[in-house]
Order: sequence, then structure tokens, then C-alpha cells
Amino acid sequence: AIAIEAVDKSFGDTQVLRSISLSIKAGEFVAVLGPSGCGKTTLLRALAGFEPIDRGSIRIGDTLLSGEGQHMPPEDRGIGVVFQNYALWPHMTVAGNVGYGLKVKGLPRQERENRTERVLETVGLTDFANRRPTALSGGQRQRVALARCLAMDAGVVLLDEPLANLDVHLRGEMEAEFARFQRESGATMFYITHDQAEALALADRIAVMNKGVIAQFAAPETLYSQPANEMVATFIGDGQ
Ligand code: ATP
Repeated sequence: AIAIEAVDKSFGDTQVLRSISLSIKAGEFVAVLGPSGCGKTTLLRALAGFEPIDRGSIRIGDTLLSGEGQHMPPEDRGIGVVFQNYALWPHMTVAGNVGYGLKVKGLPRQERENRTERVLETVGLTDFANRRPTALSGGQRQRVALARCLAMDAGVVLLDEPLANLDVHLRGEMEAEFARFQRESGATMFYITHDQAEALALADRIAVMNKGVIAQFAAPETLYSQPANEMVATFIGDGQ
């Protein structure tokens, strides 16, 4: 389980996160939905450990990741991250990209190769193992990023608008892929989007964010039937 408690974050004079608290169950698919600039990416970066926080705390289980004078480095958090721009190494093959983290972890070569092969099969990219990322479509690159999370056995996967660059057809396919990934891996998913339909299709619960605060954190049905305020009602309603 992830416990985010009363997290504040400012850039200079601008407070971007205002006492954010979220309690996420292990294995839950949470979407973070909100207008541009409301602080979604900053919250994700704080969770991943790319951004120190000013106040509050972030825990996974009993482990303190951020806060109370602590800042665990990103690579020690056991968290996988899939960015909108995929962040693959252009000079490495697909297999190289997937296996790189395992190498850094110090896994022996044979085990790295076995695991890489297995996860590439899972995401349907076996035939692309020796290609460079530049020779792949957007959706295929996205799957490489997912395979990398799978290979690292990340219990928590953060995704920042992973479908933003894809066409409608591919979006549908990838949505199904994410749902399947979560079912099979049991990972906790933290999924940022500004697309209401996407959040409604995928999430167990949706955190609606506005101007640095969580306006409401609830199941999709609840957001519809009992929106906490007008912003939530309008924002959720707009997507239909
Ligand atoms: P979008 O949906 O457009 O990606 P977002 O909800 O993810 O937006 P953030 O990227 O978290 O929003 O940004 C929230 C606010 O913080 C914005 O006003 C942004 O300009 C500001 N901000 C983000 N990162 C920095 C930074 N490193 N330095 C200064 N300001 C920043």
C-alpha cells in the first residue's frame, strides 16, 4: 500500500502541491485526473523520488520514501515509471533497454537474458528484440517501457499520460494492455491522465486533482453520483 500524507511542494513562490493525502491499496489501479498544470506530474515525480517534497511524507508499506528528513533515491524505491516520451535509450536495442536495469542491479547475464526474453514475449515484442527504439512505432515503444517495468518486477508502476501521443486505435489496444498487465503482475498502478474516458475505463479509483489539491478520491460511480463539488461534476461530466 502507498500512503501519501499531507505533502506540500513549491517551486519558488508557487505552491504546486497543497497538503496532498492519498491512501492507495496494494494492487489497486488509481488514475489521477485533472486539468493541465494542476500538479499531476509533480505528484508522480515526488512519488518516484525525482522531486524532494517540502512537507508531509510518502510511504510504501512500512518504508518511508520521502519526508521526515528522508529522501530515498529513485533507484531504491522499487517503482517503475513509464513516461509519455518513453525515455528509452536510443543507442541500445529493445532487449538492451529492457535488460539494462537488471544489469545495474547486478543480475548474472544468463538470468538477464532469460528474463528479458520472457517479458518481451509477454508484451508481444519477441521479434523486435534486436531493433533500436527509433525503428518502432509509438505503441511498440510504450510496450518496451512496460516490459522494462515487468522485468524489474516493480510492485508499483507510475505512468504519466502514457497514451498521449498515440492514435485512437492504438489507445484502445494499449488500454487493454495496461489492464492485462495489472491483472497479471498484481502491481499497484498510478496512472496520470487528463482524459476522463481513459480514467473511467481503467481505474478502480480516480483522484481528481485541481490547483494542487485532491478535489475527490473515489470510485468512478461515486464521482458521477456524488461529486464532491462543482469542479468534479463539471470535469467528470465533460468527458462524456
Ligand atoms: P499537465 O497535465 O499539463 O502535464 P500537470 O498537472 O502534470 O500538467 P505539473 O507538471 O505538475 O502539472 O505542473 C504544476 C505546476 O508546477 C505548473 O504550473 C508548472 O508550471 C509548475 N512546475 C512544474 N515543474 C516545475 C519546475 N521544475 N520549476 C518550476 N515550476 C514547475
